Amino acid sequence: MFDEESVISFNQICPECGVGNPENSKNCLFCEKDLEAVILFLEDDSFDLEINHEALLEYRKKFWGDERTGKVNKYFLEQMENIEYGEPVSRLIFTYDQDRIVIPLKRENLEKLKRVLNQIFNK
Ligand SMILES: [Zn+2]
Repeated sequence: MFDEESVISFNQICPECGVGNPENSKNCLFCEKDLEAVILFLEDDSFDLEINHEALLEYRKKFWGDERTGKVNKYFLEQMENIEYGEPVSRLIFTYDQDRIVIPLKRENLEKLKRVLNQIFNK
């Protein structure tokens, strides 16, 4: 279902707790999260993003440093509509529950996200 490129972009850091795990781990050593369900994990400036088979998760981070606030926004993939990719400012935009959601992120992260979302929504 997913090509090799998107598998390589998953770096085995657990999206839930941030602990590094050995290649091809089934579950996180620390929190036991199901790592096989994770399709993509990205670290950006103000959040970490996870895509699994069910949802897009946004783990909010504090303004300074890598610490998380504890707030997690969860968007079920099947409810995401009208997906767009911002130009020239790199951001992901979509409609969710009648709200327009805008997630600004680094260019290189947007490119990875775009590839994975295209695979998910064009299958
Ligand atoms: Zn974990």
